[in-house]
Amino acid sequence: MNRFTFSWCAWQTLFLRIAIAGLVLLGTTFVVVSRDEKLAGAWCTGLVGGANPWVGPSANHTMRIDNASISSAHWVAASNGAGMWNGVSGLTYGAAMMNGVYGDFNLYATNFGSWGWPNVPGITFNYDSAWNVESWPDPSHAYSQIFLNNTWSWNTSGYLNQSSKNADVTTVVGHEAGHSAGLNHPGACHVMCCNEPTSVMNPTYTKKWAINSDDIGGLNVFY
Ligand SMILES: [Zn+2]
Repeated sequence: MNRFTFSWCAWQTLFLRIAIAGLVLLGTTFVVVSRDEKLAGAWCTGLVGGANPWVGPSANHTMRIDNASISSAHWVAASNGAGMWNGVSGLTYGAAMMNGVYGDFNLYATNFGSWGWPNVPGITFNYDSAWNVESWPDPSHAYSQIFLNNTWSWNTSGYLNQSSKNADVTTVVGHEAGHSAGLNHPGACHVMCCNEPTSVMNPTYTKKWAINSDDIGGLNVFY
């Protein structure tokens, strides 16, 4: 199960603990770095967690929605999640139905527990050109797949509740699409400040239907 140790979205405190450890180890230098909001989640490039950009020119990336596992009632909301990132730094992010044709960027729903994955709403795996889950450090990825946990209750109204396992499709897909674009959590490698707490890439259980200046700053580092 080594292939599942990268790029999953820990909507819990794992990365917070890593950040605290970093704070202890790096001392004053760490605090200074944490003040640079423009670097955003992209600062975390190279950490386990899978922050790296698409290979080559940013180009177009169409997230293909698996119409077998993703409810039709959620297709538009899922498309809106990917679309949050469209047009930023030349990145073209759209969505289309899979219709049996897999792309370089796919969205499915599955039972996370059956794969031994943590009980979180979403996970993203990025892959190299041979479809191996990216190793670390890895400069770029060629494929990306987002999974939603089908044991959670999903809505399109913006409601998220960790304890009752309710999640909003657009918020989670938008967050995971940020991972597919190469971003990590802004709190993964430093104490958050400025606009980082309200960024889409900060994994809080709150409605987020639009990226903010911090998310954009992260993409600007990559593309
Ligand atoms: Zn995440």
